[in-house]
Amino acid sequence: MPLVVQKFGGTSVADSEKILSAARKAIRAQQEGNQVVMVVSAMGHNTDQLIDLAGQVNETPPAREMDMLLSTGEQVSVALMAMAVHSLGHRAVSLNAAQLGIQTDSSFTKARIRTISPERIRKLLEAGNIVIAAGFQGIDEDLNITTLGRGGSDTTAVALAAVLHADACEIHTDVDGVYTTDPRQLPEARQMSRIEYGEMLELASLGASVMHNRSIEFAKKYGVPIHVRSSFSDTRGTLIASQSESETASVCGAAMTRDEARITVQGLPDRPGVSHELFKLLAEHKITVDMIVQNIGQEERADISFTVPKSELQSAKQVVQTAVTEIGATGWTHDDDVSKISVVGAGMADQTGVAQKMFRALADAEINIQMITTSEIKISVLVEKSQALAALRAVHSTFGLQNTPTDAATWDRLPERTASEADLQKLVADLQAADMEQLSLSDIDLAEDQARMTLSGVPDRPGLAADVFDAVAAAGVFVDMIVQSYDGFQGETSLSFTIPRTQYDDCKAILDSLAQSYSLRKVSASREIAKLSVSGIGMRSHTNVAIGMFEVLAANGINVEMINTSELRVNVVVEGSSGSRGLACLKQQFSSQLN
Ligand code: ASP
Ligand code: MG
Repeated sequence: MPLVVQKFGGTSVADSEKILSAARKAIRAQQEGNQVVMVVSAMGHNTDQLIDLAGQVNETPPAREMDMLLSTGEQVSVALMAMAVHSLGHRAVSLNAAQLGIQTDSSFTKARIRTISPERIRKLLEAGNIVIAAGFQGIDEDLNITTLGRGGSDTTAVALAAVLHADACEIHTDVDGVYTTDPRQLPEARQMSRIEYGEMLELASLGASVMHNRSIEFAKKYGVPIHVRSSFSDTRGTLIASQSESETASVCGAAMTRDEARITVQGLPDRPGVSHELFKLLAEHKITVDMIVQNIGQEERADISFTVPKSELQSAKQVVQTAVTEIGATGWTHDDDVSKISVVGAGMADQTGVAQKMFRALADAEINIQMITTSEIKISVLVEKSQALAALRAVHSTFGLQNTPTDAATWDRLPERTASEADLQKLVADLQAADMEQLSLSDIDLAEDQARMTLSGVPDRPGLAADVFDAVAAAGVFVDMIVQSYDGFQGETSLSFTIPRTQYDDCKAILDSLAQSYSLRKVSASREIAKLSVSGIGMRSHTNVAIGMFEVLAANGINVEMINTSELRVNVVVEGSSGSRGLACLKQQFSSQLN
C-alpha cells in the first residue's frame, strides 16, 4: 500500500480549526488508499514564546534544558492532532521522539539524526492508524531529549519518508509552493512547478524560508521527492526532486539576504596558513562566515573579505581584532550596511555569459557591486543595502523569472520510487545502520587546465564588471570562478577569475586593452593554476570542511589564492605546481568521509 508522509508546519496547526482541517487532509489521504504518517510542528509561535520565556528566567539557558522545554511544543500538537482524528471517527496514535525511535547525537539545540527505527510506526500503520509524529525532536544515547534546530520538523518529515521509503513527502505550509524569489519582496515572483535538489539547497540556505536546508540535504541524499503545498487549499504546489523546472534556463531563482555585514582584513602576510588561522578562530566562536573573497597578494600581503550576518557582527569584530593582532595584519574595516543578492540555477554550470548578464543588469540599474563570488550553480554579489531591492528586481527581471519557461516540465504524479521488496529491505537496513546525517563527500578533484586573470586597481563604480565580462564573453571565453574583493585601497577593488588555459593569450590581450581604456592599475595573470575541489552534500552545515581544507593545505605549505564555497562544493585555487600535492593531502584528510 502506498505510504505518504504529510508534514504540517506551525501556521498550519495554529488553532483548533486548523488542527481539525489538517486532520481531515490526513484522513482523506488514508481514504484514498494510503498509509499516512503526519509530522507536526509546534502550534503557531509556540516555539518563539518558549524561547522568550526561557530568556526571562535565564539569559543563557543550558542547552539541554532548552531542548527539554522546546520539545514540549510538538508534544502538545501531536496529542491534539490525534484527538482531532479521533473526533472525526478515525484511528490515530501520536508518538514523541523516544517512541518513534529517532536517535540523535547529543548536540543540544542542533542535534543530528543518527538512526530511526521504523518498526513501531509500521505496526501502527498496518493496524490502520494514522501515525502522528512529533517533529523537531530526538533523543540521544542517554535518553536526553534533543532538538534538530529551528525549522527542524521538515528534517523529521524527510528522514521518516526516507526510512519508511514513503511514496510521497508532502510539506503542508502557509505558502503554496516554492517561488522564484520571496513574493513578499517582489510581487512578480512566480511559483515554480518543480525545482532540483541542489537548487533548492542553495535557495534554502540563502534564506528562502520554505524549507529547512538540512531537510533538503536529506532528501537529496536518499532521493526523497518532496511536494511543497499549501495546507489551506488543494492546489498542486512545487515538486522538489532530481530534475530542474527547465532544461534550458540558466537561472531558476534569485534571493536577497538583506542584513549582512562585511569585514575586510587588510595586509595579511601572504603565506600559507593565514586564512586558516582567521577562519578557525571565527569558527571556534561559532560565527557564520558566508562569502569569502581573498584577492591575490601584492607585495607579499593580501586582503581577505568575508560577510557575516549583521546580528553576528558584534562578536565577529572582537574575534577579528584578536586575529589581526595575532596574525600580524595591518588593519581591518567593516561595513554593516550591505546586502547580498544571489541567483541560483543548475543550468549555469554549463552555460556561458550568465554572470555577465547579471552584472549588466545591475550596471543598467546603476548599482555598484562591492564583492562577487560564484560557485557552480550560484552567483552572489554584495551591494549597498539601500539598493538591495532594486538589485533583486533587476536580476529577477533580466533572467525573466516572472515568466514560466517555455520548456517548463510539469508533473501529474510524484516520481515513482520503484524498488523491489528486497531492495527496500536493504535500504531500510542500511539507513538504520548508518549515521544518517554524517557528512558524505562524493568527490575530491583536481583541475589543472585553468588559468587565472586578475585586474587590480579597478575603479569601484557601477558597470565595470559588466564591461569586463561582456568583452571576455564576446571573445567566447568560458569564465569559471569569479571573485571580486573589496580592496584595502580606497575606492578600488580587484577582480580575479579563472578561464580555460587554452584561452589564456586571447583573454590576456583583451584585459590589457581594457586596462588601458579604463586606466586600471594592473593586469596580472597566471597560466598555471590548479583548482582543488571537495564536493558532497552538507558542505556548509558541516563547516569544518572548508576549514579542514585550509588546514591541511597550510600544513603542507600550499598557499590558497582563491576560494569559493557553496552548499555542494568548496573550491580553492592554488599555484599550478602544487596541484597534485594538494590533491594528495586532501585525499588523505578526507578519505574517511568519502563514499
Ligand atoms: N517548532 C520548531 C520551530 O519553530 C520546529 C519547526 O517548526 O519545524 O522551529
Ligand atoms: Mg516551523
